[in-house]
Amino acid sequence: MQLSRYNIISKVKDSNNWFIVNSLSGNADLIDHETLIQLQTNDFSNPEFSEKGYVTDPAREKKLFREKYLKFLDDREKDEIQIFFVTNYSCNFSCSYCYQAGYEEQPMSLNRQTIDAFFSYILNEFAGRRKYITLFGGEPFLNAPKHKEHIAYIIEKASLAGIEIAAVTNAYHLADYIDILKKGLIREIQVTLDGTREMHNRRRFLKGGAPTFDRIVEGIDHLLANRIPVNLRMVVDRENIGNLPDLAQFAIDKGWTASPLFKTQLGRNYELHECQSNQQRLYSRLELYQDLYELLKRFPHIGEFHKPAFSISKFLFEQGELPAPLFDACTGTKTEWAFDFTGNFYACTATVGKQGESLGTFYPEIKKYTGAIEEWQNRDVLSIPKCRSCELSLICGGGCASMAKNYNGTLNSHDCRPITELLELGIAHYFNE
Ligand code: SF4
Ligand code: SF4
Repeated sequence: MQLSRYNIISKVKDSNNWFIVNSLSGNADLIDHETLIQLQTNDFSNPEFSEKGYVTDPAREKKLFREKYLKFLDDREKDEIQIFFVTNYSCNFSCSYCYQAGYEEQPMSLNRQTIDAFFSYILNEFAGRRKYITLFGGEPFLNAPKHKEHIAYIIEKASLAGIEIAAVTNAYHLADYIDILKKGLIREIQVTLDGTREMHNRRRFLKGGAPTFDRIVEGIDHLLANRIPVNLRMVVDRENIGNLPDLAQFAIDKGWTASPLFKTQLGRNYELHECQSNQQRLYSRLELYQDLYELLKRFPHIGEFHKPAFSISKFLFEQGELPAPLFDACTGTKTEWAFDFTGNFYACTATVGKQGESLGTFYPEIKKYTGAIEEWQNRDVLSIPKCRSCELSLICGGGCASMAKNYNGTLNSHDCRPITELLELGIAHYFNE
């Protein structure tokens, strides 16, 4: 018997306790110093150690790994697919940090033939799979009459096929789209608000500089009044993190947080593939969570607005168990695809529209770049050299393939996540009291 390869043991922040998490057996415990010493000195007399898989026979552990890996692959085959459709790369905003700012203008635009080809491709390719479509841009809800007609056509076609629609929008023209949305099966509308009025307007303004906050707030009100679910996203970096308590209070005062149709996410502003003009304001993943941890202590009402994941800590707290082992964190080409109005398709939103990243076309003809698709589909913690021996692998899942390629030049490489440190913070946040 020996210690499991998948134990993560560390100290809970601001506490005298330690924690042990085993991502393969699915167990986790808070442990005192005495138990920690037992584990560190290979004193395995406590029967719980082997019952919970903290101490194990390596052959048995390998067998369990194989079983859970096969189950992961099996379950993923049945998972719902998220299909992004980029209706245009143009946008009426000129956000200070836009990663698409360097994208070239396309000579063509959305038309009915491309929309028909898109539906025919996905209905055939993903027949029998649960799926939904997310409209994406640029900005998909632009206010040009022809464009609006096309969006209405997509929503109508999706409805006829029984497919739900989501959208990622800057929400400026939402009020003009409500009637169109009401005709569809709308899963949720993701709207970005980067803070309260002054902060938001400093970061997210129209081309030409006009403010956008009030229109977006109105748009959110319209959605909720029409019972359309809202996913409010705040893109955070060092410039606006200090505004989070105010935005949380604003959402509480508006009554948004009391609605079951309202949820939130914090998106870390990071360098994707266009250089950020002001890199100093970007957070690493860990720095962001460190600051969030402190902010939550000072302003507990933030928790009413948003409950950060801190890796798997929130899941563990809310569900009372660990999530299933994550053999692959990257959904691209597995349960996520991204299509665009030029007739190309890609692995996901991180690569959509990026030169050299197309995995095929669905219009005017169907072409699949099989070698490139397989490279994406075969990437998981077993195919990435560094991940194979990493004790964090079944929580980290190898990170993001696109980021890995940006950093290391190859898809089959690691994009490490600070799992242990996030657990130190998250277990403290959710369990210290
Ligand atoms: S490449 Fe990154 S952004 Fe794209 S699906 Fe994978 S993890 Fe997500
Ligand atoms: S990406 Fe890094 S942290 Fe994640 S599993 Fe691989 S080696 Fe471990």
